[in-house]
Amino acid sequence: MRLTKTFIKTLRDAPKDETATNGALLTRAGYIHKELAGVYDYLPLGLKVIENIKSIIREELNALGCEEVSMAALQNPEPWEATGRWLSEKIDIWFKTEVSSGGELGLAPTHEEPMVNMLKTYISSYKDLPLYVYQFQNKFRNELRAKSGILRGREFLMKDLYSFHTSEEDLDRFYAEVEKAYGRIFARLGIGDCTYEAFASGGIFSKYSHEYQTFLPVGEDTVYYNNDRSVVLNKEVYNDEVLADLGASKEKFEETTAAEVGNIFKLKFKYSEPLGLKYIDESNEQKTVYMGCYGLGVSRVMGVIAEKFADDKGLVWPDTIAPYKYYLVGIGEKGTDAAEKFYKTRENEVLYDDRDKRPGEKFADAELMGIPLRVVISDKTLADDEAEITERKTGKSWRVKIDELMQKF
Ligand code: ATP
Ligand code: MG
Repeated sequence: MRLTKTFIKTLRDAPKDETATNGALLTRAGYIHKELAGVYDYLPLGLKVIENIKSIIREELNALGCEEVSMAALQNPEPWEATGRWLSEKIDIWFKTEVSSGGELGLAPTHEEPMVNMLKTYISSYKDLPLYVYQFQNKFRNELRAKSGILRGREFLMKDLYSFHTSEEDLDRFYAEVEKAYGRIFARLGIGDCTYEAFASGGIFSKYSHEYQTFLPVGEDTVYYNNDRSVVLNKEVYNDEVLADLGASKEKFEETTAAEVGNIFKLKFKYSEPLGLKYIDESNEQKTVYMGCYGLGVSRVMGVIAEKFADDKGLVWPDTIAPYKYYLVGIGEKGTDAAEKFYKTRENEVLYDDRDKRPGEKFADAELMGIPLRVVISDKTLADDEAEITERKTGKSWRVKIDELMQKF
């Protein structure tokens, strides 16, 4: 992309009410635009990051045999009434709206009820199971505090996966597969070494659920971890009873703040029972379907990564999700000609700063935007048939031959 061809601009200042680092930096760097507290637009660069995160998740889930759908964001109250969750006493963050012909609709805070309800049409026999269905979809939650940038949106993007099984063993098997897939996803997103699977309360249907917690100073959650971080627990389950159950003792635990980037639950019959999701087994008996659900906050993960790696110059994207690989600057007449040539070979990977601005301003924007590699071709580097590459993460620079640049990269 050429910077002269896009409407996005880096901004000197973020909105005054944007107190979160991720929100301020992403706004200044031209990734997002704030509509109101907890509600953001994703601009071309921001959308690319979101799409890159989605691609990684999609690859890992498709490898498990999951099928992607896209469910409606406007929801029928009926299935929610069947589980008792239409009540604001049960879900206190509902956005509800009136229909002109009478009655109410909900704006999706999550999708267990409509998903189970939909699958009643398609699941009838043991031959239809197991089944794994997921989507990327905007959720709406009337969050009390929406001051953390895109870490806590009132409208936000979630990946939600639901699994359906004939037995508890099969649910356990798939749950373990998702745990491994989540490990791979967070590693590929560049936060594998600071994201831990933490024990959380499982409710009446299962002893524990699990949260994926990224250690982060501005994280809203408090978690506890042992020496080698092999046991991490959230606040709800950090007590003597659970520690004993896990074979750990309290003295050795430390407290830190973290952001919950995902969570997974064995739901068993929690929704399939009240909604009547049943199947006929091999001996022609009617049975209730076992269920699991697996959430991952796509937009929150983007905010977490922005917070985690940012430095005093701006954003620093991991290669795997950066909107572009290269930030290209041509200096001088020959340098600009060569830059044009390089750009034409790599239009999809290169953010080309072809604006009429001083190199210093361009370099500052390259840093603010956090593009992994800055490529500078100037009359000076061309004198040696070379270009200069600077890595955003380390600040290290090196030279490469122009021929090599055109071919290899
Ligand atoms: P939290 O405790 O942070 O409110 P939650 O327990 O309500 O999270 P879930 O309903 O399980 O979260 O949603 C699944 C995932 O969606 C979470 O793990 C998180 O990554 C993300 N998420 C939840 N609420 C928000 C929000 N308001 N904005 C952005 N992402 C969110
Ligand atoms: Mg919540």
